[in-house]
Amino acid sequence: MRNHESAAKGDVRGCVFNIERFAIRDGPGIRTTVFLKGCPLRCLWCSNPESMQPFPQLFYFENLCTRCYRCVEACPNKANTVTPEGAIAIDRSLCQGCGKCVEVCPSKAREISGKIMTVEEVLEEVRKDSLFYQNSGGGITASGGEPAHQPEFLWHLFAGSHQSAIHTCLDTTGFVKTESLQRILEHTDLVLYDIKHMDPARHRELTGVDNSLILENARVVAASRPMIIRVPLIPGHNDSEENLNALTKFMTELGLKRIDLLPYHSLGKQKYTRLGLEYKLDELKPYEGDEVSVIKAALESHGLEVGIG
Ligand code: SF4
Ligand code: SF4
Repeated sequence: MRNHESAAKGDVRGCVFNIERFAIRDGPGIRTTVFLKGCPLRCLWCSNPESMQPFPQLFYFENLCTRCYRCVEACPNKANTVTPEGAIAIDRSLCQGCGKCVEVCPSKAREISGKIMTVEEVLEEVRKDSLFYQNSGGGITASGGEPAHQPEFLWHLFAGSHQSAIHTCLDTTGFVKTESLQRILEHTDLVLYDIKHMDPARHRELTGVDNSLILENARVVAASRPMIIRVPLIPGHNDSEENLNALTKFMTELGLKRIDLLPYHSLGKQKYTRLGLEYKLDELKPYEGDEVSVIKAALESHGLEVGIG
């Protein structure tokens, strides 16, 4: 880890939706993964849809609702109404995520995802496991969402981590202004870099954005920091031989060897319902049998080191 001059400010605030201690899949060793809200991509398979918007959001668990209607009274924005059938309808365009309805709900049918925290509050959590990081070669990982969507918060979080001699790992979509990314790299020890598709048009169809900035930034990162490419492997969408060959070629050009495959799962599906969103891959089935192993072997035959996340 480099020894930086640091000007980390503990009072910078950001929106965090999860802090996962003892994470073992988000970089080396035992880590604390801090999930920041906000993402410019709309990947069809996203398993953390609560990460997309950069502000606190309401989860509604309809199956727990006992129709007491306290939330209707409690909401200052009149976002909750009762349907003719007696169910609760939430107008998401009126909801500000204030949490007043959560406070009055007697059956835990409501929850706020996303909390405004200061850098110091997050670091307090992160430092609790310093001993584990030292013994395992771990540290902090910033994930999301796109963590660099909150560039100031992230910079101070990583600068503060370095101040406490904690290894930093950035899990990024790469869809970030290059200058912002370069600044964050000042305090980044390792980058986990997602590449979803090599074809710009397919990339746009799958994620809502073009991949040119992502590929450009990949070159910037590869030139300055250790980097692992991560591919969310989506059956029938980005696992063709053509796409994986193009990715292998790109990695070879950048001098990169390590790639982690993240096979599709549908575990985040219910979150879409709880947020009032549509899940667009409803019919998609996860991989079965040795399908992922076959893809792994094909990539290894090109000389890549392949992990499965
Ligand atoms: S979170 Fe606040 S604004 Fe949203 S429905 Fe509940 S009370 Fe209303
Ligand atoms: S307060 Fe909770 S249980 Fe009561 S109607 Fe609202 S969501 Fe349902």
